[in-house]
Amino acid sequence: MHDCCIVGGGVIGLSIAWELARRGRTVSVVSCNALRHSASWAAAGIFPAQPQDTLAQLQGTPIERLTQYSDRLHRQWAESLLEETGIDNGFHRCGSLAIATTEETNSDILNSVERWERLQVEHEPISLQDVRELEPALNSGFITDHLRSAYYLPDETQVRPPRHLKALREACLRRGVEIVDDVRVRSFSLNSDRIVSVNVEGQDLARCSMHASEFCIATGAWSEDLLQKLNFNLSTRPWRGQILLHKTAPGLIRHIINIGAGLDYIIPRDDGHLLIGSTIEDVGFDISTTPLSLDRLSTIAGDLLPDLMSREPKGFWAGLRPGSPDGLPTIGRVPVVDNAWLATGHYRSGFHLSAGTAHLIADSMCGISTELQMDFFSAERAGLAESTNLVL
Ligand SMILES: Cc1cc2nc3c(=O)[nH]c(=O)nc-3n(C[C@H](O)[C@H](O)[C@H](O)COP(=O)(O)OP(=O)(O)OC[C@H]3O[C@@H](n4cnc5c(N)ncnc54)[C@H](O)[C@@H]3O)c2cc1C
Repeated sequence: MHDCCIVGGGVIGLSIAWELARRGRTVSVVSCNALRHSASWAAAGIFPAQPQDTLAQLQGTPIERLTQYSDRLHRQWAESLLEETGIDNGFHRCGSLAIATTEETNSDILNSVERWERLQVEHEPISLQDVRELEPALNSGFITDHLRSAYYLPDETQVRPPRHLKALREACLRRGVEIVDDVRVRSFSLNSDRIVSVNVEGQDLARCSMHASEFCIATGAWSEDLLQKLNFNLSTRPWRGQILLHKTAPGLIRHIINIGAGLDYIIPRDDGHLLIGSTIEDVGFDISTTPLSLDRLSTIAGDLLPDLMSREPKGFWAGLRPGSPDGLPTIGRVPVVDNAWLATGHYRSGFHLSAGTAHLIADSMCGISTELQMDFFSAERAGLAESTNLVL
């Protein structure tokens, strides 16, 4: 019996577990599937540039404020995780170049410029010559012939998702969190409008129950099915994203290269790995990679870095982003259940938003007033709640 049980061991579930443990709660995390199959493991780990004045008020729309809140917390988290576990999560302010080589990506960048100006995100228009100086390896004929606009953003940041997850997991274990892998929550036992336990099934089909006082569901793209067991309908759609990995000499590329508004990108890791992403595909719960998409990513990389065309990629993978009907995450109580919380639907920004989400959920589960208003992210916001009675 723990104070809190978190269902789902991706970045959202582990972050909430860590923040609850830091607030003195006893916590368990139950998760099925290998971590490698979670969206979190597959993520690129880009934290788009944010305003840097950490003392200034958070600005903009609710999701923009949540992003800034989370961005500030990640700076502290990187230090705390390193201190608690000795694991460096790769948090690194590497900066980025946003480049447009088509009319469409050029207009995407113009929209971004409006937002950067409104939010006071540091950005600077740069010339072809500047692009060549900042990233000599991008000096291809393609760029020369097609560049329409380019911006430099010094504050774009990255983390390495597998390392961050390893650090979070270790930090949780060191604080006594019980992590139960390879078990699937099949159903809930309820007493009136409270969950008493989650009923889990292991890979060997052995079943047991896990009891707690409070529960949080953080099952990413798989949340819809589970929530239906609580008679709550929340559409959560999986959006597949594929990534291609190359290994080059360290320092070949130093900045994140975003094409247009960053739907396609190249991320350089310190050790020379280059991640080229990504796709957005509506193909259900299919986590496989496809030759067509990998070819498209290879072409993007080859246009900018022709040397890569002749090399075999080192690897590739896919993950399922948890999408929501209005593109916003749901963070708050599960309607009609007294002791259940929900954190899902983070779509393309779950890694970036994980720290803020964890603070909001952990504070509210502990009865502490939250630093940001959560109503905007509540499950009721889009009239999603079904006011049905729970089945005992
Ligand atoms: C290719 C790609 C690139 C991305 N790049 C970025 C990026 O650069 N920056 C960014 O911020 N975000 C990025 N994202 C998005 C980010 O990865 C997700 O928003 C985030 O990882 C969602 O985390 P999660 O914990 O909600 O879901 P997941 O990581 O999918 O975790 C959910 C967990 O719940 C478990 N589970 C499901 N059902 C059950 C059940 N019934 N019982 C027990 N356990 C269950 C699953 O096994 C899984 O481990 C990217 C995603 C992809 C796919």
